[in-house]
Amino acid sequence: MDVVIIGGGVVGVSCALQLAKRGASVTVLEKDRVGHGCSFGNAGWLTPSQAVPLANPALLFKSFKWMLDPESPLYIQPRLDPSYLRWLIGFLLSSRQSKFEPGAMALVELCRVSVDMWEEVEKRAPESFGFERHGLLAVYEKTDSFEAAHKSNELIARAGARVERWSSDQVRDREPAIIGKQVGGYFFPDDAHCKPYEAVRALAAEAAAAGVTFVEGAEVFRISAPSGTSPRRLTTTHGEFTAEKILLAAGSWSEDLGKMLDLRVPILGAKGYSMLLPKANPHPKSSIYLIERKVAVNPHKDALRISGTLELVKNDFSINQRRVNVILRGAKGMLNIGDAPVVNDLWRGLRPCTPDGMPLIGKARGHGDVWLATGHQMAGLKTAPATGVLLAQLMTGEKPSFNPEPFRADRF
Ligand SMILES: Cc1cc2nc3c(=O)[nH]c(=O)nc-3n(C[C@H](O)[C@H](O)[C@H](O)COP(=O)(O)OP(=O)(O)OC[C@H]3O[C@@H](n4cnc5c(N)ncnc54)[C@H](O)[C@@H]3O)c2cc1C
Repeated sequence: MDVVIIGGGVVGVSCALQLAKRGASVTVLEKDRVGHGCSFGNAGWLTPSQAVPLANPALLFKSFKWMLDPESPLYIQPRLDPSYLRWLIGFLLSSRQSKFEPGAMALVELCRVSVDMWEEVEKRAPESFGFERHGLLAVYEKTDSFEAAHKSNELIARAGARVERWSSDQVRDREPAIIGKQVGGYFFPDDAHCKPYEAVRALAAEAAAAGVTFVEGAEVFRISAPSGTSPRRLTTTHGEFTAEKILLAAGSWSEDLGKMLDLRVPILGAKGYSMLLPKANPHPKSSIYLIERKVAVNPHKDALRISGTLELVKNDFSINQRRVNVILRGAKGMLNIGDAPVVNDLWRGLRPCTPDGMPLIGKARGHGDVWLATGHQMAGLKTAPATGVLLAQLMTGEKPSFNPEPFRADRF
């Protein structure tokens, strides 16, 4: 079986590896360099506890309030673009408990298996990508949000991720890095973290060793089917390629590429930032989520990575200093990072988001051998390895080891 994959992010690379392991001949076309899209500088969390759909009933009311506040953690730019509005309506309709719960259960499972797989990759990798399983501490500053979290954490626990409730004193004693006022926390001992780009590189090295061909600097800009539906011809900035089977794994760029394949792939980008700072003093022992500030903290051995904000946009990579400052201010309030920390490697990326917050994994709607592995929103790194397994199983006709229904790629 010959497969051409469009997109060399963590999802495309994972699928390539799993297909090659099953005997497929795989070529990955990447417009930039492998792993330089959204997979490059994300928060690096491998956390089943935070693997839930973006379309979350708990956020629905807040998102309307936040719409009017350019400094809010989730910002929905008011726009009159029809596809943007259609996406928003889909998002609102999906933000129901009856849709959220099964989605969350499926994502947590995909993530739990993926974290175990990442651990194995770390053991095999000649160079560490900083995988550490020290858990994640979600810190609360408001009693009402601390109490309200009980319900969602019960769901996470039902999905198989362990949860511990810590009092304010326990947070202070067990995680001295938290210096701000807090009312308590939830600790998820099975969660892990890593350096995101280094992780993709390790996976890409395994894929290359399994026979995958990576073509960098090859931007696909035209796809045609000269003799009906298959094979298709992909015209790129680096020559022409022919494909019997195409896998679209182009993250936030997937909607436009979908149009080249006559497919509706409703994906919007949700912009977020991350930055590296010198180590905090004291440095956190585990990953930390500052819940009300929506700041994600990843304690690398040699640096502190902080990330945050979610701004729904269409292919807009501009940097908004005001929003970057909100993340820094948020971290400063709870961690000892100094008054004016040196910000290294400020990065932004667009999380590829579907209206219902669930990835698209499987065969696309319509004729032709076109498959999708995209729309992994805030969870692409933490669910990529198992996504690769599920996609490869479906493509090769193997019995899937996960229920493919919640991820159906023909649901829109
Ligand atoms: C601030 C922030 C923090 C995050 N934190 C986490 C986290 O802690 N854990 C987690 O699991 N996820 C996190 N995410 C989400 C995660 O980064 C994404 O879900 C994931 O990177 C998506 O991977 P991907 O392979 O689908 O997309 P990408 O990595 O974007 O890959 C798509 C690739 O397709 C290529 N491409 C596009 N168009 C073309 C074309 N025409 N021709 C050829 N190639 C093309 C691009 O260049 C790109 O390399 C975060 C995201 C952000 C922004």
